[in-house]
Amino acid sequence: MRHIAIVGSGPAGYYTAEAAQKQWGDDVRIDIFDMLPVPYGLIRFGVAPDHQSIKGVTRRYEQTALADNVRFVGNVKVGQDVSIAELQDLYDAVVLATGAPRDKDIGIPGDHLKNVFGSAAFVGWYNGHPEFAALDPDLSGHTAVVIGMGNVALDVTRILSKTREEFAGSDIVAHALERLMASKIKRIVILGRRGTHQIMMTPKELGELGHLSRTAPWVDPRDLPEEVEDALLEPGIRKSVTHLRSFAAIPESHRADLPLEVEFDFFASPQGLMGEGQVQAISVERTRIEAGRAVGTGEFYEIPANLVISCIGYQTSPIEGVPFDDGAGRFANDEGRILPGLYCVGWARRGPSGTIGTNRPDGFGIVEMIAEDFPQSQRKTGRVGFDALAAARKLDVVSFDDWKKIEEAETLRARDDAPREKFVDVEEMIRASGHD
Ligand code: NAP
Repeated sequence: MRHIAIVGSGPAGYYTAEAAQKQWGDDVRIDIFDMLPVPYGLIRFGVAPDHQSIKGVTRRYEQTALADNVRFVGNVKVGQDVSIAELQDLYDAVVLATGAPRDKDIGIPGDHLKNVFGSAAFVGWYNGHPEFAALDPDLSGHTAVVIGMGNVALDVTRILSKTREEFAGSDIVAHALERLMASKIKRIVILGRRGTHQIMMTPKELGELGHLSRTAPWVDPRDLPEEVEDALLEPGIRKSVTHLRSFAAIPESHRADLPLEVEFDFFASPQGLMGEGQVQAISVERTRIEAGRAVGTGEFYEIPANLVISCIGYQTSPIEGVPFDDGAGRFANDEGRILPGLYCVGWARRGPSGTIGTNRPDGFGIVEMIAEDFPQSQRKTGRVGFDALAAARKLDVVSFDDWKKIEEAETLRARDDAPREKFVDVEEMIRASGHD
C-alpha cells in the first residue's frame, strides 16, 4: 500500500489525487490536507464570484474526494500543526499543492499607505477568505487605480463596476456586496507598464468588460499600433487586441451618459504612492517598449487615487524546512522534485500562470514521477500514523463529511439569487461542521 500526502486542496491538489487513484487504484491511500476547514482553495477563494460556471469544476473534485481511498484533512496547518519532516516520516510521498496565495510586492514608495491592497487581499475580501474578510476597503473616494493588465486586474475592475442585478447568481459574500453597492467610485484606471500588444488579459474575460451596464471601457486609439501589426500576434492575444480596438471605437457620447469611467492607461509604470495616511495619488512614468520590455521615458505624471489594487501576480508561501526560490517566489524544485519524497505541483511548482485545467497534466506528471522514484511501497503508516499524531496533539481535524455540513449550511443561508453565503470565519465554519 502506498500512502500519499497532498498539501493543499485546490485544483492542483485534487488533480494529483485523481492521478494517484488512476495510477495505483486500491493500492493507494491519499490524504489531502488544507489549513482551512473548507476545500478547493483557488476555486473558492480566487475564481471570481460571478464566474460560477468555472467553479462548477468542484463537482469533478468531489467525485475524487468521495472515493474510499481519498480523505480530506481540513483545519490542519502543515508547517505548524504538523511539520513537513513528520509528514515525510508518515507518507511515501508528500506533494505540496499550496498554490501561490501571497501577493507579489509592488515595492514602490508609499505601498504601505492605507487603502493600497494587493489582489490576494482584495480578491480574498470579496471571496470571503477568513484571512482577508476584515480588510475593510474604503470605497468612498472618486478614483480607483488597478495596477496590472492580467485577468486578475479584469476580475477586480469588473467586481468594482457591477450593479446588484449583475451580481445575481454569484456567491459574492454579503459584506463585500453591501460595501460595493455603497461605493462612490466614479473612475477606474487600469495601469499597464507595457502596451496593447503585451496585455495578459484573455479574450473572453476582456470581452466581458464590454458588457457592463454602468460603464463602457475607454482605450485611447493613439495607444494602438497600426492594425496590420496585429497579424503578427498569437491568435489569443490578437482577439484580446480586437476587443481593445472595439473599446477605442466606442463614441465619447455613449460613455458620457454612463455613471462609471473605466479607462486603460498603457505605457504607464507606477513609481510611487502619495497620501497622508491614506493613499491620494499615484505617480506614474511613461514608458516605451524596447525589445518587449518597458523602458522609462523620464516623463512623469500623477493620477488621483483613493483606492489602489495591485494585480501584478502572486507567490507561494514558504513552509519551514522546504527549500524556497525567493527570486521566483515558489518552492525550489527540479520539474516538481524538491527533495527525495517531497514534490510540488501547480502554481507552487511553476508559478502563477495558466488556466485551472493546466494543473491537470501537472498532477498526472507528478504522479508519474513519484511512481518512477518509488516503484515499491515504503511501508509507511500513512493515515493511521497521522491520526495518532493528530489525537496526541488534539488537532480539530475537519473531514469531507464535516465540509458537506458546512456546505449545506452555506446553501441554506444564501440570498435568494445566490448559490451560497460563505462563512468567512474559521470558528463559524467549524461550528457549522458540527464540531463543538
Ligand atoms: P498575470 O497574467 O501574470 O498579469 C500580471 C500583470 O501585472 C501583467 O500585466 C504584468 O505586466 C503586470 N505587472 C507585473 N509586475 C508589475 C509591476 N512591478 N508593475 C506594473 N505592472 C506589473 O497575472 P494575474 O492577472 O495575477 O493572473 C494569474 C493567472 O491566473 C494568469 O494565468 C491568469 O490568466 C489566471 N487567471 C485567469 C482568470 C480567468 O480565466 N477568468 C481569472 C483570474 C486569473 P508585464 O506583462 O509587463 O510583466
